[in-house]
Amino acid sequence: MKPISMPAIWSFMRAKPRPTQSCRQRRAVSKSYEQHGDGQRIDEGNAPGHQSTDRLHTTIRLLAARGALTMTLSLTWLPIVLLDAGLKVAEQLGWQTRGRGDSGTIRGVMCHHTAGARTGNMPSLGVLTNGRSDLPGPLAQLGLGRDGTFFVIAAGRANHAGVGNWQGVTTGNSSFVGIEAENTGHTSGPLADPWSAIQLDAYRRGCAAILTKIRANAIMCCGHKEYALPQGRKSDPTFDMDEFRLQVAAIMAGTAPSPYVIPAVDAEDRPTLRRGDSGELVEVIQVKVGVPRSGSFDAATEAAVRQFQRDNGLTPDGILGPRTWATIAAR
Ligand SMILES: [Zn+2]
Repeated sequence: MKPISMPAIWSFMRAKPRPTQSCRQRRAVSKSYEQHGDGQRIDEGNAPGHQSTDRLHTTIRLLAARGALTMTLSLTWLPIVLLDAGLKVAEQLGWQTRGRGDSGTIRGVMCHHTAGARTGNMPSLGVLTNGRSDLPGPLAQLGLGRDGTFFVIAAGRANHAGVGNWQGVTTGNSSFVGIEAENTGHTSGPLADPWSAIQLDAYRRGCAAILTKIRANAIMCCGHKEYALPQGRKSDPTFDMDEFRLQVAAIMAGTAPSPYVIPAVDAEDRPTLRRGDSGELVEVIQVKVGVPRSGSFDAATEAAVRQFQRDNGLTPDGILGPRTWATIAAR
């Protein structure tokens, strides 16, 4: 949606006054947010008695209600910060305007696991976006797929934390970015789900990038199991948080070993191809994986490449690197 210009707002304000919500009604709307999550109050941001500011806010609210203006949520920096850290990012439709109101000042990042299905890259994405019958979505700002892709779900506040305390911060939903990483949460038995190196590496780098952005120390990266009260209420994530934080701190300090980087060209001079690329070689791949031949590496092509990789025991990252090229060229 196109942002509305200030002159349009002023001309709207000069127009004949319309019946508006009373302060009491507005407070009632605001209060309904309090029934969920950690009870953090959504601040309406109005200084009482400041009439022109109040009128402008009312106008903006009316325009938003009429679909003329999209309210800006705070966490719109998430994808760029992750991309700058060299991570894979998939923005989900509508993420910029999704949230249970806006977040407050972000103090840290909270690690979760989805306790979702054993197979698939990010089978919990729908639930994280839309919520469950007992808890409205979004349930996190970010999802982390098994292949290390960050799915950006929301730019506002999310219901991920519940009651708890970490380093004196008790407003989990408003003060922490929630990352839900795809994992069954089982460490033994038929649903055991060992964390892959690629997913854990992305998890640490994503947390380090967010903490660097908000100028927080690695101690502000907590597990849901560490924050949640009463103690023992949550078990996620299954990995050791002290060790995880040490590695996050090393990344932030620049002392961690470099991550594995896919070479731009393989030994046969074939370029690494990924979503967004185009050209004749993309057409060759599309024929091999059985999607319509458009020459543009789109979402459908990426999904088909992932499936091909899964079927052939390769890392299902949807990227045509040297190993996938070698396997696909042999077909
Ligand atoms: Zn959790």
